[in-house]
Amino acid sequence: MKNKKLALWSFLALAVFAFVAYFNDYELKLVPNEPDLKPRAVRPSPQENVSDFKLAGGSERENRGFPQRKIIDLTSLFPGLFYREGPTDEKKIALTFDDGPDSVYTPQILDILKKENIKATFFLIGNRAELFTDVVRRIEKEGHVIGNHTMNHPNIIKLNEAQTQQEIKEGEEALYKIINYRTALFRSPYGSLTPEKVKEVEKLDYKIIAWNVDSLDWKSLTAEQVKYNILENVKAGSIVLQHSSGSEKEDLTGSVAALEEVITILKDEGYKFVTIPELLDIQYKK
Ligand SMILES: [Zn+2]
Repeated sequence: MKNKKLALWSFLALAVFAFVAYFNDYELKLVPNEPDLKPRAVRPSPQENVSDFKLAGGSERENRGFPQRKIIDLTSLFPGLFYREGPTDEKKIALTFDDGPDSVYTPQILDILKKENIKATFFLIGNRAELFTDVVRRIEKEGHVIGNHTMNHPNIIKLNEAQTQQEIKEGEEALYKIINYRTALFRSPYGSLTPEKVKEVEKLDYKIIAWNVDSLDWKSLTAEQVKYNILENVKAGSIVLQHSSGSEKEDLTGSVAALEEVITILKDEGYKFVTIPELLDIQYKK
């Protein structure tokens, strides 16, 4: 009796296993090659304290997604003050990198730019600049342009005017102590802006730099995905957004891995890489 029961259970278990295995396999065959959109594991960096990498306004993931329409409105509302692209009659592109410096991704990006002999623009966070002064100096020494991305990376549309200006001034001061010039370029954290905020930033004598090509690298995408996002959207006069550091949740390995190939392909297509002041013919120092 006991043996019979055991045999029956064994048979049932085997049947269930075979059923599941068969249909899993069957389903796998039906699913086409979808891109892997899952964020990859965060690579902890040995030198960096995770708490240093908290962005005051939260991660990009929590803040982004404002409608493109708003950017277009700001461009026509504030010509000569708010920019998201350069002249479209020449094959020039400006690569921009936000949220650095750090000691993991920023140096890798600098190595690639050096190898390719390309100058780019870095929008730096003041409190990170204070942590990695040597990386800031390297950015400057290697001929790249530095812009202000606030002291603590808050979402400035949630701040009043005094708080907004304090964030920008503190960021400017932190950078000034290292690079010895006052930058005239500002990029708002998360690209978050209203017409009122634009006027508040203007009072501090800044040009506001947005972008028209978003690599979406803050989503911890693969190199293939970052490459696709840039190459599918880039055109003459484009300002491309990538990150050279992120919040503790963001893995930029894919973004760094895509960079060299993106540069090679665009060079082959006849594009020239320039800094923001070169692309827009504006001053970057005050
Ligand atoms: Zn940012």
